[in-house]
Amino acid sequence: MANVIAAIEALADAVIANKERLTELDAVIGDADHGINMARGFEAVRGKLAAANPADIGGALKMIGMTLISTVGGASGPLYGTAFMRAAAAVQGKTTIDAETAATMLNAVIGGVKDRGKAVRGEKTMLDALEPAYEAFVEQLNQGQSLLVCLEAATAAAEQGVEYTKTIIATKGRASYLGERSIGHQDAGATSSYLMLSVLTDFAR
Ligand code: ADP
Ligand code: MG
Ligand code: MG
Repeated sequence: MANVIAAIEALADAVIANKERLTELDAVIGDADHGINMARGFEAVRGKLAAANPADIGGALKMIGMTLISTVGGASGPLYGTAFMRAAAAVQGKTTIDAETAATMLNAVIGGVKDRGKAVRGEKTMLDALEPAYEAFVEQLNQGQSLLVCLEAATAAAEQGVEYTKTIIATKGRASYLGERSIGHQDAGATSSYLMLSVLTDFAR
């Protein structure tokens, strides 16, 4: 569990460190708060971590989900909050994560985001990073690759997904108010999803 706590700390630190960048991205086609929202949530997570002393990964992820829902606000709070709650349910009782479990978790994350936000891929949201990431992960998993190799493929696919969001019109979230003017700019939520995957991948090295 010490490893899991350290991974969560790394995740929180990265989100907090990227507060300005994520906010700048959201300023272009949204309301300039994505980084502020996410940093507020993960500062709260960091604050709770020591006292929460979660017994297993599910407990830790549930704490993150509940904290994000109650502190982040905006669209991303309930979306990421639900995502972490679903990941928690998918990993219940475990204290380590293998590649198969990680795939189940990532799939649960996507299911949570879709149930909550009713978006599909191609609408310029975090799903445009998460869905290709899952597919790339499973492709490597099916070839018998390690968790790290699966995660590396997932992160690379998420990065491409972020690039893809520059080319499409937003049809969900605040950026959808801009219509065609959203083209040419990357989605902030897809960027934060990529960021989180890349941190977890680095952590798995
Ligand atoms: P808000 O838009 O309320 O200010 P944030 O700025 O924190 O919230 O988050 C915006 C991000 O949330 C977007 O960049 C997008 O990736 C994501 N998002 C918005 N609506 C949806 C949705 N319906 N489904 C999935 N993701 C969404
Ligand atoms: Mg915003
Ligand atoms: Mg907002």
